[in-house]
Amino acid sequence: MMADDLKSYERWGSLDGKRVLVRVDFNVPVERRDGRWRVTDDFRIRSAVPLFEDLLARGATVVACTHFGRPKGQVVDEYRVDPIRERLAELCAGVTLMENLRFDPGEEANDPTFGASLVKGFDYYVNEAFSASHRAHASIMIPPTLVPSAVGPNFRREVEVMRGVIDAPARPFVAIVGGAKIGDKLGIVKVLAQRADTVIVGGGMAYTFEFAQGRTIGSSLFDASYVAECTELLTHENILLPSDTRGLRDGSPVGPEGGQDPVLDFGANVPDGCEGFDIGPETIERFTAAIAPAATILWNGPMGLFEDDRFARGTEAVARAVAASSAFSVVGGGDSAAALKKFGLVGSVGFVSTGGGASLELVEFGDLPGLRALRESPFP
Ligand code: AMP
Repeated sequence: MMADDLKSYERWGSLDGKRVLVRVDFNVPVERRDGRWRVTDDFRIRSAVPLFEDLLARGATVVACTHFGRPKGQVVDEYRVDPIRERLAELCAGVTLMENLRFDPGEEANDPTFGASLVKGFDYYVNEAFSASHRAHASIMIPPTLVPSAVGPNFRREVEVMRGVIDAPARPFVAIVGGAKIGDKLGIVKVLAQRADTVIVGGGMAYTFEFAQGRTIGSSLFDASYVAECTELLTHENILLPSDTRGLRDGSPVGPEGGQDPVLDFGANVPDGCEGFDIGPETIERFTAAIAPAATILWNGPMGLFEDDRFARGTEAVARAVAASSAFSVVGGGDSAAALKKFGLVGSVGFVSTGGGASLELVEFGDLPGLRALRESPFP
């Protein structure tokens, strides 16, 4: 992986009288209460405050910009950044937040004119939006072509942690990949099969592998277009798949509200008319035993439909095994982070990445469009 793209803003020295544009990812959850939208999780905003304070202390005028929701290139009142602005003002005085970047179709289209309009009148640009930097959007790609640019401290830490794990992991290195969308995750399973000592695969995506092994999966999540790739990956002996499954008969309600229907233990094969939603007890034993000796752990994606308490056992057992291990553990992706939170284990892992898609892409390709833009910036 390239390391020459991580130049800090600190090289600029005093910023007296200078204007700095900071791209952040303040795409935070909001909730309407008493007729007003409020931020319900301000973690991303709080994380940017030390950078803002340092830039202000160096004398800069600081303006931040973010996307928020999916207004699709139009002004949509619901996606105005007002609630974010309000929370930011409470946390850090003196930083201006621009209106939602995605109100302009030029943002997602990576339009150079829109990108140029963002840095007009600015002396410097800092990208502190790791979790948005796998997208080649204008606010990520264009500013580094026009003004001296730098990576923000949180973005830098994300990249350093991920590169450390991929390029020079303490061994044994155990990777755990789960979640529903196999299309999003097969790329990293391939990379990790080469780099990790063990790759544990669980969650909905595992059923396509199980199908490729010749097992029956009932009506569990499945994507026929990846069977051939799964078959090929199964030649890697370090890939560990579930050996049993828990689930329900078709038609039983699932989700956080769930239902009262009995949960079935299927063993290795899910029968017709049934669907798997979690790894079974034998798999939990095998997976946690594989995690225990790890010196490095990378975990992305839940082991089952953990939002429904009946199917949270596999994810909870894996989360507890990761937390109990003395390994350096990195947890990436919103769902795994949400699982850690649900089980009260956030403080027990080494690093929680804020970027789902971005951390997957960084592992898979060793690079991100946003890093490439900073690396190729023509300014010293
Ligand atoms: P992803 O976005 O691909 O990381 O998938 C995360 C989602 O996959 C979570 O909301 C889980 O509830 C869901 N999930 C994991 N395993 C299963 C499964 N066996 N069946 C249905 N959904 C699942």
